Amino acid sequence: MSSCLPSCWGDCRCRSSANENTTSTTDNRTSRTTTCKNCEAKNKRSGLGCRKRNDDTKSRDKRNSGENQEIVGGCWSGGHGCFITSMHPPKPKTACSICEQKKKSRITAETFCPECEEALCKSCAEHHKLSKISKDHHTIPVQHYSEIPTFVLKTEQCCLDHKLEYEMYCQDHKHPCCIRCVSENHVDCHNLKPLNDVVHNAKSSELLNEIEKSIDDISAYLETAQKEREEYVRKFEEQIAQCRKHKNLIKSLITDHLDQLDQKMEAELNTRESDYKVASEKTIGEIEKRRENVKKIADDISAMRKYASDRQTFLAMHLLNESVGKEQNAVYELSNNMEHIELTVNEPDITAVLEAQSLGNLKVISLPVDSVFKIKKKMKEKMATKQDNSREKRRQQNATEK
Ligand SMILES: [Zn+2]
Ligand SMILES: [Zn+2]
Ligand SMILES: [Zn+2]
Ligand SMILES: [Zn+2]
Ligand SMILES: [Zn+2]
Repeated sequence: MSSCLPSCWGDCRCRSSANENTTSTTDNRTSRTTTCKNCEAKNKRSGLGCRKRNDDTKSRDKRNSGENQEIVGGCWSGGHGCFITSMHPPKPKTACSICEQKKKSRITAETFCPECEEALCKSCAEHHKLSKISKDHHTIPVQHYSEIPTFVLKTEQCCLDHKLEYEMYCQDHKHPCCIRCVSENHVDCHNLKPLNDVVHNAKSSELLNEIEKSIDDISAYLETAQKEREEYVRKFEEQIAQCRKHKNLIKSLITDHLDQLDQKMEAELNTRESDYKVASEKTIGEIEKRRENVKKIADDISAMRKYASDRQTFLAMHLLNESVGKEQNAVYELSNNMEHIELTVNEPDITAVLEAQSLGNLKVISLPVDSVFKIKKKMKEKMATKQDNSREKRRQQNATEK
């Protein structure tokens, strides 16, 4: 077993007395490479050194010179899926890395070796297939490499707790383990297998199927939830329309009633007005008639004084007295029938109308949606299984500590 940090990046792959060299790149990421003293001296002499380091230096130079160059990380002598290289997931390269390394012209790469993290041209790929160190590597078409999701490339290949390469897989915990994980957390686990033995079946594994099933469930739920929500929105719009209709109905009941009261009072006012006018015109007519009569008598008296003889005056006086008596009776009669109308208005009792606080109280009830019942049930089942698992894990950890 080999430790990811710090082991020698040189040819010897030794772990003792490795120096850690930290190389800062222009984008402020730090790539750490280690070389033992022997290898470093050897590299200096041969001018070759670790390919990983050469690549880093080259790409840094190229970036500094403003050249837009895709960078392929990875150590030629590595190929162990190390923590260091996994920090910088290599980008797909179109040119053969080895030919470029040999300062040959750019040759289009056809395959990619995930273990070497190198793009290879046809002839280099053949060499790679025959080479003792790489003959078991599974290469893929270079186009397929670019299809691998970034998160897969970024997934840590080493245990982050112990900085050691994953070597085992605990089927009880469904978790990869480094050798220290095994001794610290999985002592009582009975289903530990070498990681290499279980990865072959990764694509047909129960876990991947489970994950896919979960994704299917979630997708199905989201689809249902969306359809359901759209249906709820439609229903809600209907309810809004219904409430608005109700409000308008209540409002029209009130306004119709007010209109009726208004018309009733208006009609009464009109009747009163015309009745009073008619009565008053009649009275004024009577008064004018009386005034004419009285004036005629006064004129007669004045003419009689001027032109009639005493005998004529004496005899006519009795007649005049009779006429004046008639007028007096008529005026008396008139004044008896004359009445004055004063019109005011009493404020009606409208408190009931004014005390109405609304045209309808909105009743809002929050209800759980149908689809939530289903997903909650499923989630609860899943969480219960997970809790059981972690309880079991804690129990085992406690047992180990004792
Ligand atoms: Zn070394
Ligand atoms: Zn090549
Ligand atoms: Zn390879
Ligand atoms: Zn570990
Ligand atoms: Zn375990």
